[in-house]
Amino acid sequence: MQQVKFFSGEQIPLELHKVRIVQKLNLVPIERRYDAINDGFFNDYMLSTNDIYLDMLTDSGCNAMSDNQLSAMMRADDAYAGSQSFERFHHGVIDVLGKKLLLPCHQGRAAEHIIAKSFVKPGNVVPCNYHFTTFLAHVQEQGATVRELLCDGATDISSDNPFKGNMDIDKLKACIEEVGTDNIPFIRMEASTNLIGGQPFSMRNLMDVRKVADHYGILLVMDASLLGENAYLIKMREKEWKQNSLAEILKMMTGLADLVYFSARKLTSSRGGGICTNRQDLYDVMAPLIPEYEGFLTYGGMSVREIEAMAVGIYETTDETVISQSVEFIKYLVDSSVKCGIPMVTPPGVLGAHVDAAGFCPHIPQNEYPAGALAVALYLCSGVRGMERGTLSSFRDENGVEKMADMELLRLAVPRRVFTLSQIKYVVDRLHWLYENRELIGGLRFTYEPKVLRFFLGKLEPTSDWPRKIVAKFRKDFGDSL
Ligand SMILES: *Cc1c(COP(=O)(O)O)cnc(C)c1O
Repeated sequence: MQQVKFFSGEQIPLELHKVRIVQKLNLVPIERRYDAINDGFFNDYMLSTNDIYLDMLTDSGCNAMSDNQLSAMMRADDAYAGSQSFERFHHGVIDVLGKKLLLPCHQGRAAEHIIAKSFVKPGNVVPCNYHFTTFLAHVQEQGATVRELLCDGATDISSDNPFKGNMDIDKLKACIEEVGTDNIPFIRMEASTNLIGGQPFSMRNLMDVRKVADHYGILLVMDASLLGENAYLIKMREKEWKQNSLAEILKMMTGLADLVYFSARKLTSSRGGGICTNRQDLYDVMAPLIPEYEGFLTYGGMSVREIEAMAVGIYETTDETVISQSVEFIKYLVDSSVKCGIPMVTPPGVLGAHVDAAGFCPHIPQNEYPAGALAVALYLCSGVRGMERGTLSSFRDENGVEKMADMELLRLAVPRRVFTLSQIKYVVDRLHWLYENRELIGGLRFTYEPKVLRFFLGKLEPTSDWPRKIVAKFRKDFGDSL
């Protein structure tokens, strides 16, 4: 839709913005990168951006802000209660998401905390298309569990299913019959299912889930953190919606859910988060928790400047020239990598390109964290920081047994309007070199393993001196190149 055709026939994404404020990047030598990752216990969360060339850890809070967002931040109305900045944001939520009642919270996981605390009871089961790390942690903290009901083939690496984020309706019905409606606080649908490669669900599927929710009288909650991109892919891939505007698709999607929550770090290219609904009864259950955990109802732990940026950003989510950018750059990154033979999750999804670490490093067993090892190896050979999304991001059960992840992915996030095409080409080039030298990559093991969300603060070490071998081979092949 927003693709520009080239006379040459070349298929490349074209930037539909210009760069006016820039940040200098460091591309430090590989020897420095070795020291940095060694000092960071082979966990790339521990790196300083001083030592990173392209930070592809996440899109969270890393999307480029627009001139309109920055200028709105200047007129922020500082007030503990009743801030006009909040009113402007609230109007945006009503206009774009179609929900009248809004609770602000400091980011997406704070919304998950409030929702879990309000509705999830011990022993409950939350059916979802797929879990998200922070959502799962909050559900488990309430003594409950999630049930993942993705459609068949959703975790196949290479696929031509345009909607791998779809929920399997038969599995959903079976789950409800088995668990009982009393034990299900709500069904959760996550837009652009993050952990399986940013894969969207279709409008058809969401409507079908809504029908089941209505039939059984169960609430439908939507994680809308990556809603804009899911809506864009509905427009691109689901023919019934081709003629509709992004704004119409967005509103249709949120209209099907009773409760919508989001990380504004993603949805609106700013900071913050929120929960919105048209149901006063649901609002009334959650509202008292906001002043207790987040801040007063008109700021929710955010600065008013952030709220102004959200107020503008929520409207920009309806702009195809904004939302298409990251998606089209990801597609370019995935397609170019596949041409080099690199195993990638297909079709390309949103928020980042996803490398199949299990296919990249079949010689590394899952309990030695192939995706974490690949993140270390890619950082070493390129200065690019990705994020492990595999068993390292998983957890141990009460008996200390590790739950092996369904997929071992290295996510290379492509925040909106941040990177240029030559930078993306550099990523493909280094990934290609690494793939040709993949047998050099070895495993990792924990030297310190936190109980909850272990990937954030865990410390690791390589199972052999393989990182040094990568440094040596890089020098041999690239001479004195950075
Ligand atoms: C990022 C994310 C969250 C958590 O949001 P934060 O603002 O980082 O706390 C929740 N759900 C999904 C789908 C996300 O991508």
